[in-house]
Amino acid sequence: MVIVMKAKAKKEELEEVVMKIENLGYKPHIIYGVERNVIGAVGDERGKAKLQSLEVLPGVEKVFPILKPYKLASRDIKQENTVVVVDDKVEIGGNRIVVIAGPCSVESEEQIIESAFIVKESGADILRGGAFKPRTSPYSFQGLEKEGLILLAKAREKVGLPIVTEIMNPKDVDLVAEYSDIMQVGARNVQNFALLKKLGKCNKPILLKRGMSTNIEEFLMSAEYILSEGNKDVILCERGIRTFETATRNTLDLSCIPVLKEKTHLPIIVDPSHATGHWLYVAPMSYAAIAAGADGLMIEVHPNPEEAESDGIQSLKPHKFDVLMKNLRGFIRVAGRV
Ligand code: PEP
Ligand code: MN
Repeated sequence: MVIVMKAKAKKEELEEVVMKIENLGYKPHIIYGVERNVIGAVGDERGKAKLQSLEVLPGVEKVFPILKPYKLASRDIKQENTVVVVDDKVEIGGNRIVVIAGPCSVESEEQIIESAFIVKESGADILRGGAFKPRTSPYSFQGLEKEGLILLAKAREKVGLPIVTEIMNPKDVDLVAEYSDIMQVGARNVQNFALLKKLGKCNKPILLKRGMSTNIEEFLMSAEYILSEGNKDVILCERGIRTFETATRNTLDLSCIPVLKEKTHLPIIVDPSHATGHWLYVAPMSYAAIAAGADGLMIEVHPNPEEAESDGIQSLKPHKFDVLMKNLRGFIRVAGRV
């Protein structure tokens, strides 16, 4: 249920509503708005009619149910776009298009530091690099794990870019949170509910990738798992879904962007690298993602793609990334973004 407070409601009135929600056995989530505050009361769907009685409390304007299965992720509860602030400097979900770039995996100190300088030089806002790698084969490179996190932190310190890296196992949440600015949930873990719940209790932004066979509603339900535990900083990422087409690694579902923009206030970025699986297709799909309304891009860039431990074929060479970043400016302007 959504409890909308009056524009002039007092702090004590809001506190009373929060207390009443808790007494009824529901969890209150306060959403501070520009004009008025709203409280989402989530919990057992069956007894929610009891919450309607809160309408008589002072300071309350109206109480209404959210009919969608995802509540806190829904635009019904929050009309304004959520802007996730990373490391006090990068805003995701505002007017500015954010570019996250870097190699698929952290491979060595030299490789990640060189990558960091390359992507920063071309104008990227955030550095990516996997330390824990979800690989289809157990015989493929699995990532440098803690050593990779340490190297990422070094790169961060050298170039001053915030970092995003993948978290795969609930037991590693504290470790990964210590070294990263954003924790990424990969496509394969989008329905790892134990992991999502644990991330919901962290105060680090979460980049949640869509699974390869996750529909939009399921994707939003995964975001809801994180939000319902109290972490409001969720960034969605479309990275392609599995279809009958085999010419590309996945099929980039760009139509999910306007759909998600209508259904949720959360920011959404696009990963054209994993979506297409080939560096040749990364630039066109980047332009298309901006045109469709994405808030940012995540692009794999490697100083030497031929030598990459993972995803070399889809990684851009430094000069190709630089050209893309320059060409993107025009698309960004035409899309009314900065
Ligand atoms: C990645 O970003 O390196 C990755 C493994 O992506 P996905 O989970 O989308 O396959
Ligand atoms: Mn990759």
